[in-house]
Amino acid sequence: MNFFEKLFPENFRFFSEVVRNSSSSRAYIFWGPDGIGKLSFAKFFARSFLCGTMPPCGFCSQCVFEEHPDILVVSRKEGDERLKAEYIREAIRFARFQPYSFFKFIIFSEAHLMTQQSFSALLKAIEEPKQYVTYILVTSKIDFIPPTILSRCIRVRFFPKDFNTFVMEKLKGKFQNENFVSLVQKIAFANPSIIDMIDSEEEFSKIWEMIESAVAEKPEFKSNFVNLVEYYIDQDREKARKFLDVFEVFLLSNAEKFKSSSIIFWEKLKKARIMLDTYFMNPKFVLASIIF
Ligand SMILES: [Zn+2]
Repeated sequence: MNFFEKLFPENFRFFSEVVRNSSSSRAYIFWGPDGIGKLSFAKFFARSFLCGTMPPCGFCSQCVFEEHPDILVVSRKEGDERLKAEYIREAIRFARFQPYSFFKFIIFSEAHLMTQQSFSALLKAIEEPKQYVTYILVTSKIDFIPPTILSRCIRVRFFPKDFNTFVMEKLKGKFQNENFVSLVQKIAFANPSIIDMIDSEEEFSKIWEMIESAVAEKPEFKSNFVNLVEYYIDQDREKARKFLDVFEVFLLSNAEKFKSSSIIFWEKLKKARIMLDTYFMNPKFVLASIIF
């Protein structure tokens, strides 16, 4: 059985039908938690469609390409915070030319990171359809996609079928400490990408130390937190996100212990996320705001 068939049986069946009938819709939105394989599935579907069978046969004239010329993946370039309008315009130019085969796919990774201009450019593109183009938006934050775009897409939800096995497979070999394994398992349920994001047990223990310093009441722990942020997070937005993810799960699983103060922390985390990902403030200051 194909890997994707095991992981997302319903979606596999649905798109097998699309491939068999060789009739793809104008636009899809693939949504679900980070790190579970939505983008890979989008590429897999596109390759299958061009081949004519799902999974792709692997030896026909369409399958010979390592990178198929009719599949474009638009993603954020390194150092960019958002998916800029210029990338969307580039994609629209790509759509303008006749396909090499008979069809084109344009896949947007992290679609929620588009700017207002990006969304408007995309909307125009979807509204003036070329018969041979399918757009696939991939996102973990469907709430960030404007309704004008959503209403023109077929929504496809992704969630691994046997989630625990999926997580345990990924954790294998990465963590030895049993406490950490069970903690990471809990966190992964809220955000599966955490397993890919955290590179080592050492990194996880650093994050854990930060959380314990942040919630401690003694002032000297607070200064420890500030030191850890300075030393470990510095300007790294991705690490700051990881910290917030882990912190959220920590609060969820310790709600009893913190009672009313856990609500205060929730509010602070919510604000921190907005500062981090909407206003793009300095990660160091964002995290420091949690304890003051
Ligand atoms: Zn093929």
